[in-house]
Amino acid sequence: MSKDYFFNFEKLTYVKGPKPSGCILCLIRDQAPGVVDLRVYSDELFIVAVNLYPYNPGHLLIFPARHIEDIRDYTPREEERLNRLQRFILDITDKLHHPNGYNLGYNMGLTAGASIAHLHLHLIPRYPRELGIADLIAGKRVLVEDPRETAGKIRRMIAQEPFSITTS
Ligand SMILES: [Zn+2]
Repeated sequence: MSKDYFFNFEKLTYVKGPKPSGCILCLIRDQAPGVVDLRVYSDELFIVAVNLYPYNPGHLLIFPARHIEDIRDYTPREEERLNRLQRFILDITDKLHHPNGYNLGYNMGLTAGASIAHLHLHLIPRYPRELGIADLIAGKRVLVEDPRETAGKIRRMIAQEPFSITTS
């Protein structure tokens, strides 16, 4: 079992000093100074990062290095890579967090609930007896792991079992 504990987001400062302007996912891609690096994987096409405000331990974002805002803008090469990367990340998350299931999906367009225009796939592990969304909204304290700790664990697992960008 993963080590869960009550964690107060208000104590976590992701950005030190003046808030950098621009697309947060492009800033993460570019490793912009002042942006806390929650990336766990990157190649020339995709980046995987722990969500800044995880819904659950292990909540990840998979996003293209290119700033695109619509899944129809994926090239065939990106689609092929994404398919295998999703499988790889699900296997890693299974081993690390042992969830009962997942929510996988996009919020495409700001009116659909996407807070970031840059296309990103949410990968949210689901657990038995987790807090409901109402509890998360009502309370300041939510049951999650520090996202920096999650990122460290996933990086170590990927270092042991690297993702192969080639199909062979
Ligand atoms: Zn962007």
